[in-house]
Amino acid sequence: MPSHITHLECTLCGKIYSHREPMRLCPDDAKPLYARYDLASAVKTLTPTSLPGRVSSMWRYEEVMPVEQPESIMTLGEGFTPLFNAHRLGESLGMNSLFIKDEGVNPTGSFKARGLSAAVSMAHQLGQMKLTMPSAGNAAGAMSAYAAKAGMEAHVFMPEDAPEANKIESIAYGAKLTLVKGFITDAGKLSAEAAEKHGLFDVSTLREPYRVEGKKTMGYEIVEQLGFEVPDVIIYPTGGGTGIVGIWKALDEMEALGWVGSERPRMVCVQAEGCAPIVTAFRNGAEFAEPVQDPHTLAAGMRVPAAVGDFLVLRAVRESGGTAVTVSDPEMVESVKKMASHEGIFPAPEGGATLSALEQLVESGEISRSERVVLLNTGSALKYLDLLGPLLASS
Ligand SMILES: *Cc1c(COP(=O)(O)O)cnc(C)c1O
Repeated sequence: MPSHITHLECTLCGKIYSHREPMRLCPDDAKPLYARYDLASAVKTLTPTSLPGRVSSMWRYEEVMPVEQPESIMTLGEGFTPLFNAHRLGESLGMNSLFIKDEGVNPTGSFKARGLSAAVSMAHQLGQMKLTMPSAGNAAGAMSAYAAKAGMEAHVFMPEDAPEANKIESIAYGAKLTLVKGFITDAGKLSAEAAEKHGLFDVSTLREPYRVEGKKTMGYEIVEQLGFEVPDVIIYPTGGGTGIVGIWKALDEMEALGWVGSERPRMVCVQAEGCAPIVTAFRNGAEFAEPVQDPHTLAAGMRVPAAVGDFLVLRAVRESGGTAVTVSDPEMVESVKKMASHEGIFPAPEGGATLSALEQLVESGEISRSERVVLLNTGSALKYLDLLGPLLASS
């Protein structure tokens, strides 16, 4: 049951490119490319009844994954994470259908493993053996781990205020780590220069077409784990937006596969008060987001001042009838404690942010207590102990 990938397509202008060449953004308009599949033929084997007994990782959906050569698949067991019914947390909010998708149990402690497993596998298939990326945190560790698995060279450019764990793990996995004074956008410039100068392949999210293919599998899993139904609401902590647009892409693919109908969950984009370009654009009715000048938040995964896929996030949120909200760092810390003490899940601050957003939206009446809601806990708090520990101790 190999991949049914057919081509790459620009998400803005619709131009078509080959997936058999190393590609990054659309050469014409510098927007992200999406992998497209022959879903009419994939549906012959990729049916709900075919799934039990398949590998318990995101590669169980191999027909709609991009890798064509099985020997290039670099897996550490990413994905197929549990979807927990959060009874005690739900009860505290007067809700009886609250779920948490726990991405903290992924290899390297965050859902970045999904994207990097897909991207590193495709790079391997395309013969790109030297990788680089700017990362404010978890993506660096994930790239470094999969590059180690694949025997590749890895270069990481990281703002110096990134969580300690991300620096340490990258070094342990054998990557060359460069700490940058400045923001993720400054690290991005250095990574692009290094790529140019040393022939490295830059796997920055959505500038490379396959990380989103890894992250879309969260959408497939949520639907499979809910018995082929879609929830009413999905709440997602948004940085580059790869996960939220990936889940949205998966829903369209699953409709074409006949797994779901035309119903969609309302997609809620959560950002930090100190870095909320997409929320601002959403409120202003804009198609693209303005870069944030002085981004600050404890949640490194959401400290993304400008995202190349901004218009894709905004489209998904609007088409779904969803919304975009901000939460403060102290609210996130409160929610980290609340999720941990009610559910035994110790979430990254980004995961905590989804609970703060839920409380806000239940309070305002935008989410009703009877709705089925999925929170994405995108990582483990254990990656943030240096930053989070003192705040938790004092709160
Ligand atoms: C990267 C990251 C995010 C943001 O993910 P995007 O898909 O880029 O929006 C959220 N949470 C954690 C823990 C992350 O590492």
